Amino acid sequence: MSGNPGRIVDGLKSLLGRDRVVDDEAVVRLYSREPSGLESQALAVVFPETVRDVSRLARYAYSRDLKLYPQGSSTSLSGSSVPLEEGVVVSFERMNQVSEVSVVDSIAVVGPGVRIDELNLMLAEKGYMFPVDPASAAVATVGGAINSGAGGMRSAKYGTMRDWVLGLQLVLPDEHGTVLRVGCRTLKCRQGYDLVRLIVGSEGTLAMVTEAILRITPLPEQVVVALAFYPELRNVAEAVVAVKEQSVQPYLMEFMDRKTVEAAAKAMNIPVETPGHMLLVGVDVNREATGRFVEWLGKTLRATGAVKLHVADTLREAEDKGFFTLRRSLFPAQIKLAREAAGSRRVLVYIEDIAVPPSRLVDAVEGLRSLEDKYGLPTMIGGHVGDGNLHPAVGFDPHNEDQARRVEEWFEEVMELALKLGGTISSEHGIGTLKRSGLRREFEHLGSAKALELMRGLKRLFDPKGILNPGKVV
Ligand SMILES: Cc1cc2nc3c(=O)[nH]c(=O)nc-3n(C[C@H](O)[C@H](O)[C@H](O)COP(=O)(O)OP(=O)(O)OC[C@H]3O[C@@H](n4cnc5c(N)ncnc54)[C@H](O)[C@@H]3O)c2cc1C
Repeated sequence: MSGNPGRIVDGLKSLLGRDRVVDDEAVVRLYSREPSGLESQALAVVFPETVRDVSRLARYAYSRDLKLYPQGSSTSLSGSSVPLEEGVVVSFERMNQVSEVSVVDSIAVVGPGVRIDELNLMLAEKGYMFPVDPASAAVATVGGAINSGAGGMRSAKYGTMRDWVLGLQLVLPDEHGTVLRVGCRTLKCRQGYDLVRLIVGSEGTLAMVTEAILRITPLPEQVVVALAFYPELRNVAEAVVAVKEQSVQPYLMEFMDRKTVEAAAKAMNIPVETPGHMLLVGVDVNREATGRFVEWLGKTLRATGAVKLHVADTLREAEDKGFFTLRRSLFPAQIKLAREAAGSRRVLVYIEDIAVPPSRLVDAVEGLRSLEDKYGLPTMIGGHVGDGNLHPAVGFDPHNEDQARRVEEWFEEVMELALKLGGTISSEHGIGTLKRSGLRREFEHLGSAKALELMRGLKRLFDPKGILNPGKVV
């Protein structure tokens, strides 16, 4: 950075206006941390309101070697939205307009600061939805979800952000603060190399997203949901196979292993009559077919050994009956357990984000449990089993050096396990700072170390001075 911090902040205020720059230390601290517990301290937070603001900011930053850290709601779990070096956080929360919704064209044109749940409330009035649903959707923004390549429960059927972004307006961190439009307003689009997909999942390291054209889809008429508990892990795997082999693509398919069910139920005071390995399956159906699917789902899960089974005709009924309560308690329960174990409120929770082919579920869970024994780290294991994405999580006291070292080693071995089973080190949370070694490991495993070189070349091309979210991904 050239220039002292005070002058830089004054310069930003005269560039964007005082109301768009905050340098109050306490407020800046709030924008310098993530729920994983990682934190830092930026110089200031800027709140651009237009693409022109963002472009001028990029030009200013380029000329002064000032680091910029784009941010939505900072719910990232990978370290991707925490500022690392002196620089400013660029919060997109004020660029939160939905400028167009067209059900005929199947698109919504939105600002990066629009929250996913808010967009879905608006779309629901037209019988439509944006299907990517991270569990953080109440606050997670479109810009953050695009850049982290987010997924969610519905990914079992609808995939992740890379399947739903059609076009982007971008600002490059170059000397002109270049504004670019890439992608199309149409579902089909061939524009040479796919720059839209390059930006999706780039974690704010290549360009700042100032507008997105998202694909939207009709809401399902009805979703039948079943909550089942199984005595044996292999039964769960059999249930997954049984559902899929009958040509049904589940709308959601969530899993928690028995130990996790018991720990979460105890920590969060959730009554569970017959704990076992939990499987939650949703299937979207036409209203007229509801009865047939309720019967089919119940029969299929019972035939694969479910000892306790509840079935609901609709998502509303499943919510009201608390089918999702256990699954949603995974992260808060882990925090609570870690705090109790550490005897302190200052704990870090590492949530892994591996994926394995769903056919390797049993191997993955058994492997994770033996790592738990090896490192002596109580582990919660749950995830989106429809697409093989597991989120084993451990909590620890970062001031306890021995624990912190064991967690680092555990983290690396979990990634190694995923690769051995034909999976990947990150499915939806991204690389950030926490998984850079994992990314290298994955490409080496594939015999493709050169891919990292290509990525570093792309980074230099988009961001010649390395001022945009440096130290992340590559
Ligand atoms: C309780 C909890 C549950 C979660 N569940 C899920 C889940 O089910 N699925 C899932 O995928 N993730 C999940 N996450 C992780 C995270 O919430 C999602 O990835 C979310 O989409 C991030 O949105 P955000 O607005 O908070 O982005 P941020 O955390 O602010 O940013 C994420 C990344 O995007 C970049 N960025 C943000 N805005 C822009 C922009 N306009 N231009 C360029 N770069 C930008 C940031 O620099 C950062 O690299 C969860 C997190 C929590 C805390």
